[in-house]
Amino acid sequence: MIPSKGYAAQSATTDLAPWNFERREVGPHDVQFDILYCGVCHSDLHQIRDEWGGSIFPMVPGHEIVGKVKKVGAHVKKFKFGDLAAVGCMVDSCRVCPECNAGLEQYCTGTGMVGTYNSRGKDGAPTYGGYSNHIVVHEDFVLHISDKLSLPAVAPLLCAGITTWSPLRHWKVGKGHKLAVLGLGGLGHMAVKFGVAFGAEVTVLSTSPSKEAAARQLGAHKFVVTSDPAQVKSVKGYFDFILDTVSAPHDMGLYLSLLRTDGTHICVGIPSDPIQVHTFSIMAGRKSLAASGIGGIPETQEMLDYCAANNIVSDIEMIDIKDIHKAYERMLKGDVRYRFVIDMATL
Ligand code: NAP
Ligand code: ZN
Repeated sequence: MIPSKGYAAQSATTDLAPWNFERREVGPHDVQFDILYCGVCHSDLHQIRDEWGGSIFPMVPGHEIVGKVKKVGAHVKKFKFGDLAAVGCMVDSCRVCPECNAGLEQYCTGTGMVGTYNSRGKDGAPTYGGYSNHIVVHEDFVLHISDKLSLPAVAPLLCAGITTWSPLRHWKVGKGHKLAVLGLGGLGHMAVKFGVAFGAEVTVLSTSPSKEAAARQLGAHKFVVTSDPAQVKSVKGYFDFILDTVSAPHDMGLYLSLLRTDGTHICVGIPSDPIQVHTFSIMAGRKSLAASGIGGIPETQEMLDYCAANNIVSDIEMIDIKDIHKAYERMLKGDVRYRFVIDMATL
């Protein structure tokens, strides 16, 4: 086993603190890489606080991971020592079911996908994430990243990026569409960048009036403060798509009323409580309510390659790992422009 160190939560009510643990030896198909940066996703906070239930402790969070390859197994073909490498939200899946064969490993119907942390590998051992010094992952779940982009700003693409890219691509959002991005946080700001890049008219629906100027700098065409009834009224029945990135309970009926006939509301945010929707809110206008989970490995690589070719990265604020709880507090208040990234040299 390989001695490793990270920051872990020992229970749902304790703060993250330094923790020593072990990772598996590098197998014939494994890549081991030193973690240089790791993004801070709202899912990290949901899971260390066990807001979705079933959390496994001790938990080392982190699934927006970038670094440099230190060691590869004898049969590894895609990576060599010194390469840049990245891992997102999954480290394994059954690889034989129809979903895995279609590159939709996140929806694996065989064994289910293995999460990068708060999950169990095929050997039954818990997985530990990116708030740590290195990681060992099967090469099929390791992504290539370009050395042309700022490395810390690439890290959030591994979750915030692919989680917004995948539904926008699946529903073919682009020219001629009016897209609303609900919530301007880590996921939301990537949704704005991709929506604009794909040619949609992008409106940010936000609870934070102070984010308007920054939203327009990201390329948003309109900005609607959701606490202002007049502004909300101006976009009733207006949107083809709403991409909902909100992490807390919110009024689904209100937002569904902003869709035009046949419009689609796509949830990517995962509040801890079930959402409440009255049938009338979707019946009137034959609307669709959908949800989407991260993205498969081939489309994650496609997204990373697209970002390298089009110079797209995340807007980040770098932090020392000891300040992780201050970062969580600010994230909860919506006070981050737009993703915290941990400089793992501070571990
Ligand atoms: P984040 O950075 O905290 O952004 C969430 C944004 O939602 C906030 O910045 C805020 O934007 C808005 N918001 C927060 N509370 C709200 C409320 N009560 N009502 C209305 N808006 C509110 O979080 P994130 O990292 O982007 O993650 C967002 C959600 O997506 C989380 O639930 C996370 O677990 C989930 N997620 C899902 C997937 C998936 O595969 N589906 C993957 C990753 C993350 P404004 O200030 O603009 O209002
Ligand atoms: Zn995430």
